[in-house]
Amino acid sequence: MQEALLFERVEGEAVLCRLCPWCCRIAPQGVGLCQVRENQDGALYNLNYGLVSAAAVEPIERRGVYHLFPGSVLLTLGGWGDNLRCRFRPAPPELPEASEKRRYLDSERAIDFAVEHRCRGLAWGYQEPVVWLEYVLDTAKLARANGLFTLFLTKGFVSEEAIDLLGPYLDGWVVEILAASAQPYEQACSLPGWETILRSTVHARKRWHCHVEIHTPLVVPVNGGDEVLRSLGSWIRENLGPDIPWHLWRCEPAGELAGQPPASSEEMERAQAVGREAGLRYVYIQTGDEAGLSHTVCPSCGQLLVRREGKFYIRTSGVEENKCTRCGQEIYLRRSIFK
Ligand code: SF4
Repeated sequence: MQEALLFERVEGEAVLCRLCPWCCRIAPQGVGLCQVRENQDGALYNLNYGLVSAAAVEPIERRGVYHLFPGSVLLTLGGWGDNLRCRFRPAPPELPEASEKRRYLDSERAIDFAVEHRCRGLAWGYQEPVVWLEYVLDTAKLARANGLFTLFLTKGFVSEEAIDLLGPYLDGWVVEILAASAQPYEQACSLPGWETILRSTVHARKRWHCHVEIHTPLVVPVNGGDEVLRSLGSWIRENLGPDIPWHLWRCEPAGELAGQPPASSEEMERAQAVGREAGLRYVYIQTGDEAGLSHTVCPSCGQLLVRREGKFYIRTSGVEENKCTRCGQEIYLRRSIFK
């Protein structure tokens, strides 16, 4: 446990957390909506510092990231806590109360482990990493000092202040965006201020030059309509550019939609076509298994650039200095830690 960043004392001994747009006002001995930030005698503490819910050494493609160091191996760490619940997804596990069920991973040990296992990068994901900010920041600084790239896998409901703390140490911002309109967010999580997710992504890209990829879980009754998809595709092109990869995920509806079928192959392909019609150059269907890996081709001449087969066969060819060797088209590919 550590004193938290980004809070202020308000009247009495209450505190206001500024880490995400919920801006929880937390009474003494109370916790915020994420359940992992607690007011102790007028100061805010995180309850999850260094506590790891999951860790894996894996190819970056397993996280659904295609244009950042393709084929590289990274260490992905997951913490505890979540600030955005979706009615149609399984509830995230909660921080165990029993101390013997808590796993602490020292930040230096995490980096040593990544280096020992020849990882090229460090990622934070599985659960929302913004509520793990202090630990993410400490490990990000060490990762960068050791030449690792860094990747934030987020739902994007993050304050600009938090992004500004992380920005200098962050290479990749991979964000889950459901839609660029109010209705799907209302249906999925009754989220006031959902536009923050779009704004935070633009901020990470424009202010901190993060490599950005967008993930959209496709839940047909919520965001599978052509209009909803078209407006998100157009928003990506207009605000981030046509090169930003858009990954459409097949997701098994849970919670209130449990029992509903996941998007069919035809619905996934239709969504992909809508993204391309919106002017995006890289629109991928992600099925969550190795068989569902897609290749990257030059959007101009169709030359195969990144071949992805099985878990570990990822081969990049036909690109020099981020240009297609056949037609000279600029390719959105980040393979350097220099921004
Ligand atoms: S990080 Fe947690 S405590 Fe802070 S504003 Fe967000 S939900 Fe509330």
